[in-house]
Amino acid sequence: MFSLLKILPNRISQGIVASYFKISLIGASGAHSSILNINMSGMKIKVLPALGDNYMYLVVDESTKEAAVVDPVEPATVVKAVKDEGVKLTKILTTHHHWDHAGGNKKMVKAIPVPVYGGDDRIEALTDKVSDGYKMKIGELDVECLSTPCHTGGHICYVVSNPGQSPAVFTGDTLFVAGCGRFFEGTADQMCKALLEKLGTLPDDTQVYCGHEYTTTNLKFAKSLEPNNSDVTEKLNWAEAARSQQKPTVPSTIGEEKKYNPFMRVKNQTLQKKCGCTDAVSTMQYVRRLKDNFKA
Ligand SMILES: [Zn+2]
Repeated sequence: MFSLLKILPNRISQGIVASYFKISLIGASGAHSSILNINMSGMKIKVLPALGDNYMYLVVDESTKEAAVVDPVEPATVVKAVKDEGVKLTKILTTHHHWDHAGGNKKMVKAIPVPVYGGDDRIEALTDKVSDGYKMKIGELDVECLSTPCHTGGHICYVVSNPGQSPAVFTGDTLFVAGCGRFFEGTADQMCKALLEKLGTLPDDTQVYCGHEYTTTNLKFAKSLEPNNSDVTEKLNWAEAARSQQKPTVPSTIGEEKKYNPFMRVKNQTLQKKCGCTDAVSTMQYVRRLKDNFKA
């Protein structure tokens, strides 16, 4: 185990990490990234790499040792993490129905029978359908569901909070570090609502845990759009250093995303001008189309 503090790049991350959580990395052979533990007072988040570039998350309430898992596509890894942590898994939280997020649900409940939450009937083994504003608990931790349709129609982001602490949001394929998911079942208008009105109004120190490790490619694209944005350049340098050592680039924060994520910056007039647009929705549409055709 070793500290990630050394490689955290910019003042934003350093300040946040130093002030409210301890993190540690555990080497994992074969996976795309190391396992990462984020320890906060009362809450622990275990970042579990899966498949080629997916992340699953074990969220632990330290006071009751109850846990939930987000998108357990590789159940064997989750079962081992549950055992290692000595916690009681009580929920599966599914962000959306795509196989690389929901495709492990059936096996997961076979190994540990727990309810499966999600916002879409197409989710494998779904037992509890949720909608915007639905609230539940992981032990003492509060969970609120945010409906963010666009990547898929039933996409849900989960906000987990503990009084007196920065919240954590699990964003699936809606918001990535420096990017967002493709608009498979929705419109630029919906993605504006998701990123600017729902996720963008969470406190700036909200930690962002996304569904894929796409950060360096996303930042190269961001740099092509905003070559003079020093937050983009700093984050890219940091992310490349982290990835060269197979370290995950999650979490970021909502405040950070507003500084370097072009999809959260569609109200920025310089960016709008660069895209030949005059409003957020058409800029969102334009930036998404550019990204869909971008080769890093
Ligand atoms: Zn997806």
